[in-house]
Amino acid sequence: MAVILDGRQMSEQALGDVARRVETLKKRGVRPGLAVVLVGDDPASQTYVRNKGKACDRVGIYSRTMILPADTTQEELDRLIDELNRDDDIDGILVQLPLPAGFNEQHTLARILPEKDADGFHVLNAGRLMLGMDSILPCTPKGILYMLKSAQVPLDGANAVVVGRSNIVGKPTAMLLLRENCTVTLCHSRTKDLGQITSQADILVAAVGRPEMITADMVREGAAVVDVGINRRNGRLVGDVAFEQVSQKAGYISPVPGGVGLMTVAMLMDNVTTLAERRADGRK
Ligand code: NDP
Repeated sequence: MAVILDGRQMSEQALGDVARRVETLKKRGVRPGLAVVLVGDDPASQTYVRNKGKACDRVGIYSRTMILPADTTQEELDRLIDELNRDDDIDGILVQLPLPAGFNEQHTLARILPEKDADGFHVLNAGRLMLGMDSILPCTPKGILYMLKSAQVPLDGANAVVVGRSNIVGKPTAMLLLRENCTVTLCHSRTKDLGQITSQADILVAAVGRPEMITADMVREGAAVVDVGINRRNGRLVGDVAFEQVSQKAGYISPVPGGVGLMTVAMLMDNVTTLAERRADGRK
């Protein structure tokens, strides 16, 4: 049976560290602040936004959630972001994705000042990651790396396979693993013979959004398997990995729920705190 990459325990640890840094900042007269903008009424997004607000309360970060109707215009959203960019109470801005049809996501993310980019999705921060420069990292990839490092999974020289090439999960995860000296293969919907590739992986990250598509025959004995997928099936949450069978073969596995999702929120708190620390240090 695989070692469980326990998102509850690891996120508790990460949040504890954040709470201590927030305390230190408050002693210096800085209260970290996060603004979360949600457009429309997608139920999953509402849940994510609620969880982010709760995590802020938990670690002492000031949070403001702004919910805009789905018929908001791009110009109205831009204006709100401009106001938040100027707002001294706000260190980090997060626009919950996906935006409803009709919005330009890249335009919206680029409207956020890079120094208030809580999610690390701004083109400048994405570029800095690509170039191996210090940057605010996207929360899910950062959480994945935190899990692997906490469990002391060997990274240097490991074969890492990432399934899914989105800008928010797959691509930045591949870049982070490359930075850790993994040999990285990035797979997607056009990849031929996926199972042959995944079964070579020492580290396998599944970020697709297809329930339980990674089965035991696709996994190498002893591999570290990180399941990013969040899928709803018959009223319950399942990942992209068939947990029951894969956990018999893998060396490490993250569960869904109780895995990467919790780390994502914890890393958001970490990012907001880092942005506030930069403000306190006058490094904006
Ligand atoms: P996207 O839909 O943006 O990307 C999915 C990726 O999977 C694409 O690159 C796509 O390939 C690839 N893909 C689709 N079908 C296959 C297939 N049959 N074989 C191989 N690759 C395939 O999703 P996200 O990256 O935003 O999210 C992925 C999953 O992770 C979702 O379930 C989402 O809910 C979850 N998620 C979880 C988070 C967490 O905190 N735990 C945070 C963010 C997302 P192509 O590019 O060719 O279309």
